[in-house]
Amino acid sequence: MSRFLNRQLRRLTPYTPGEQPRDRRYIKLNTNESPYPPSQAVLDALDAEAVANLRLYSDPESKFLKAKLAETYAVGENQVFVSNGSDEALNFAFMAYADRGVAFPDITYGFYPVFCDLYGFSPTVIPLKADFSISPEDYFGQKGLVVIANPNAPTGLTLSLEDIEAIVRKNPDSVVLVDEAYVDFGAQSAVSLTARYDNLLVVQTFSKSRSLAGARLGFAIGHADLIADLQTIQYSTNPYNINRLTQLAGVAALESDGYYKDNCKRIIQTRQKTAEELAKLGFLLTDSKANFLFAKHPRFAGKELYEKLKDSGILIRHFQKERISDYNRITVGSEEEMQALLAAIKTIIGGNV
Ligand code: PMP
Repeated sequence: MSRFLNRQLRRLTPYTPGEQPRDRRYIKLNTNESPYPPSQAVLDALDAEAVANLRLYSDPESKFLKAKLAETYAVGENQVFVSNGSDEALNFAFMAYADRGVAFPDITYGFYPVFCDLYGFSPTVIPLKADFSISPEDYFGQKGLVVIANPNAPTGLTLSLEDIEAIVRKNPDSVVLVDEAYVDFGAQSAVSLTARYDNLLVVQTFSKSRSLAGARLGFAIGHADLIADLQTIQYSTNPYNINRLTQLAGVAALESDGYYKDNCKRIIQTRQKTAEELAKLGFLLTDSKANFLFAKHPRFAGKELYEKLKDSGILIRHFQKERISDYNRITVGSEEEMQALLAAIKTIIGGNV
């Protein structure tokens, strides 16, 4: 840290992203990327002409992309905001709505507390139940911003649309942000509710189900007034937030919906199969509806298993955090990757099954 850093940033603990090591080739099951490549339409869109056009700024309104998103999700174009990864939409929402208060679960996406730190907000942190589920009533009557990841991360557990709607209805004085980064793998989206509530903001990403983590593209859908707020922040920080190649890739991805839906189906099947195999090996798992599993073994510490798998060339995610340090989060990769994972786990736990 330099001696020049602003005072409020000196005690900031930044978000720790999953490892992206370059020292050797790993089977990467630690950051919930898709094992499948972007669609052919995306590859075709990123041609020499697209690259040559990089000399020009991108469209700050991302007009084509927003129009395509509006068509895909059957909402108005003024109900769509696009962001540099969904992290940017989340960041803007915290910036916009959390100064009167902000509530989220104790176990959820690790970026939420970092935004609070960054802006000096003291969040209301609401414990999940013992089985890691969320009690909707715990979130009623908040002030400012309520943030719920559905499915939650890293547990993978979902809330029903009725429960989400109850939280929205019982928070007339708050914006309810539903982070749907993993929704395409088995949860009900709240996008349909955005037509009826002016306090609901749904955030999604192209990083997981649409195989574009490296392109950095996310979006928010909500009431036009909420979208206008986010746009004000965009134009006050980084007007050209989505680069040209990503705008093209995003439109092409939306035009290949069938391809991505098939990939999601495959990932869901692989998730079920891997969960069953892990259970046979003695693991306890949550009922994850995301593209990851959340699992612990009664005889192996989470960290030990993480380290041993890393030694054998497989990366999973361990969180050294209260309540969940026994667990690991394992991205659902391809069939072959999961076979390699299971074989490595069998070797590690050996005769102790
Ligand atoms: N929300 C949740 C719950 C996540 O796990 C992630 C991935 N780290 C994100 C949002 C952000 O993803 P991205 O910025 O790649 O869209």
